[in-house]
Amino acid sequence: MVQSRPVVGFERLADALLDPAGSLDFSVRGSRDRDGKHWLDLSLAGTLTVQCQRCLEALDWALRVDNRLLLVREGRELPEEELQEDGWDCLPVGPRLDLLELIEDEALLALPFAPRHEACCAPSTSDGGGTTSPFAGLAQLRKPEGRG
Ligand SMILES: [Zn+2]
Repeated sequence: MVQSRPVVGFERLADALLDPAGSLDFSVRGSRDRDGKHWLDLSLAGTLTVQCQRCLEALDWALRVDNRLLLVREGRELPEEELQEDGWDCLPVGPRLDLLELIEDEALLALPFAPRHEACCAPSTSDGGGTTSPFAGLAQLRKPEGRG
């Protein structure tokens, strides 16, 4: 079952966004396999408003997370071969699992480090998609203005 919750309801996530508009859809499904392992299948979807690192304007970013977590008891040592397995993460759980906190953690982890508009209309100085350095911007500032 997919649930929905306003982004403002996730305090840490809201803080990380330019604008905590919209809502987050999520579903959590727990299951137990033949070996008695507990799994949590987690799906998140939503449109988050992040800040374009280029023009600093709002950017609608589509969040999509599908994650499978192996639940392990907090404090329990995992056998090495389990830690080496790829394809899922282990989630240590205490006596109580806060699902909303987990959802929020997953969303925060998924946030892009330096989001940019696909076709950003920021006034760009020189680059054609190459590397930009902060010094290039400084050089631009230092150019004498066309006076007279
Ligand atoms: Zn932009």
